[in-house]
Amino acid sequence: MTNVILTINAGSSSIKFAAFDYHGSDPGLLAQGQIDGIGGRAVFSAQIIGDQSTEYELDDSHGKVDHKAATRQILDWLRETERNAHIVAVGHRVVHGGPDYAEPVVIDRAVMDDLRALTSLAPLHQPHNIAGIEAALEAFPDARQVACFDTAFHRTHDLIADTFALPRQFYDEGVRRYGFHGLSYEYIARRMRVIAPELASGRMIVAHLGNGASMCAIKDGRSVASTMGFTALDGLPMGTRCGQLDPGVILYLMAEKKMNAEEISDLLYRQSGLKGLSGISNDMRELGASDAPSAKYAIDYFVHSIKRGVGDLAASLGGLDAIIFTAGIGEKAWPVREAVLRDLSWIGVQLDQDANRQNAQLISHSQSPVAVFVLPTDEERMIAGHTLNVAGLVRDATGLHAAERANSAA
Ligand code: ADP
Repeated sequence: MTNVILTINAGSSSIKFAAFDYHGSDPGLLAQGQIDGIGGRAVFSAQIIGDQSTEYELDDSHGKVDHKAATRQILDWLRETERNAHIVAVGHRVVHGGPDYAEPVVIDRAVMDDLRALTSLAPLHQPHNIAGIEAALEAFPDARQVACFDTAFHRTHDLIADTFALPRQFYDEGVRRYGFHGLSYEYIARRMRVIAPELASGRMIVAHLGNGASMCAIKDGRSVASTMGFTALDGLPMGTRCGQLDPGVILYLMAEKKMNAEEISDLLYRQSGLKGLSGISNDMRELGASDAPSAKYAIDYFVHSIKRGVGDLAASLGGLDAIIFTAGIGEKAWPVREAVLRDLSWIGVQLDQDANRQNAQLISHSQSPVAVFVLPTDEERMIAGHTLNVAGLVRDATGLHAAERANSAA
């Protein structure tokens, strides 16, 4: 029997999963995949590492595939393909841990009640995370279930970085700057400890640029500020989300355009960002390949927002030692990084243009006062590491490969 940790990352219409075995404290990836199109035409795709990949449409003849049915499908596939797998624990990505959850936790009845109570803080995301947990509890009743929060890494913010200038009662009720993408930032902070320990204990800005995008200021391994706030809407423009917005715009939409909360929510979450600016696509690859002026404009807006974010977060850090790019755009869109970095010489960035164009790990010159890295993120591995720790299976799981540690020590 192989003892397996399963990670589940349930979004509105998709569930991503990964299966890890573990030797010592290092989770080793066995398989990963996702189900897209939940609630509609659901498609399962998965890959066994070093082996075949598979993709097929799910049978909806007995009704549309929901989160529970999708999770069951993942279990069935794992049973089929990993016959010796014994699921000992399931780690869940949970978007909101509220003010109190600063660490991952084993899920029990009280935690479930708390997660449900936090739904009002993330109504578009939390219900899917809860559905994923419920499905996994049903499917793997003997496995330990662990919640890993996207907000937890930011609970080290001091009061000022956590607060809006509203009457204090709102802060006490939970209207705070939580920050998100915490599992990604934590993973990158740990990788930096391995790759460049002297920088990891300094002042870093990490730019997580995927469909969702945010930036985080990290000092001595701890988050001190983030561009995201109360919800995952604030800060940088994203694929379809607006990013930073004068709240007066929302008052205008309500008073003058008579839009209700649902319509405004749809506008800000689904019709804005790169999609709204370009009128073409939310996808950076498509925008980069387009000749349309509106595509260029959307990319320029995105780049400008990142540059402003660097200035803002560097002020929170009192200076800057390193910038790290990660997630789909951060890892692969070299023209976006080049456009950001060539205008950051004022803060000490000396871009190595060739290294950047090759998506190298270090993309600044060796003498650059601010070092710049491109590092792939791995939220699944972070969840697996936390799950091993918190479920009491292995103490001090790092979420990193032994091989990576050996490489960096060499
Ligand atoms: P998610 O937040 O859904 O996990 P990802 O981290 O996968 O998103 O990032 C998706 C974004 O990355 C998309 O805008 C996509 O176009 C962009 N992207 C992926 N590969 C490339 C590439 N080679 N060049 C430019 N952009 C890319």
